[in-house]
Amino acid sequence: MIIISDHCIISMEAKASAFWPEECCGLLVGERFEDGRLHINEIVHCKNCAKQKTVEFLIDPSVHIALERQLRGTGREILGLFHSHPQGCPEPSGKDHESLADHDWVWIIVGINNRRTAEIKAYRRHGSEARLVPTNYAIFGRMKAA
Ligand SMILES: [Zn+2]
Repeated sequence: MIIISDHCIISMEAKASAFWPEECCGLLVGERFEDGRLHINEIVHCKNCAKQKTVEFLIDPSVHIALERQLRGTGREILGLFHSHPQGCPEPSGKDHESLADHDWVWIIVGINNRRTAEIKAYRRHGSEARLVPTNYAIFGRMKAA
């Protein structure tokens, strides 16, 4: 079960809109509970270091490493990443599927078209395969799930 705080949804939408027509990206931070629940309650926005920013993204590795270090011993951790698709479709690209990002990470894709959010979808790896499969999530806070 993946729970995302409503302010994180708002934050990802705002960045995706501001960066359009380029992709934006960031890391998802929160808590992992013993029963397997994940609660994402912070978004750490990162610079998109990719060459072709309208069709791909690359999270700055130095930001990733610094954040890992900062979270050590706090009970909080990096639970995944998010990025936007400026063409509006939140389906993973071939490159997204093949990405070498941490295997149990949650992937959130914000499909945005003309600066307006189309759809937000969450994915996880399917076993050991290099494939992201859709997963459900719940929104925590005042905002209602679509
Ligand atoms: Zn993508």
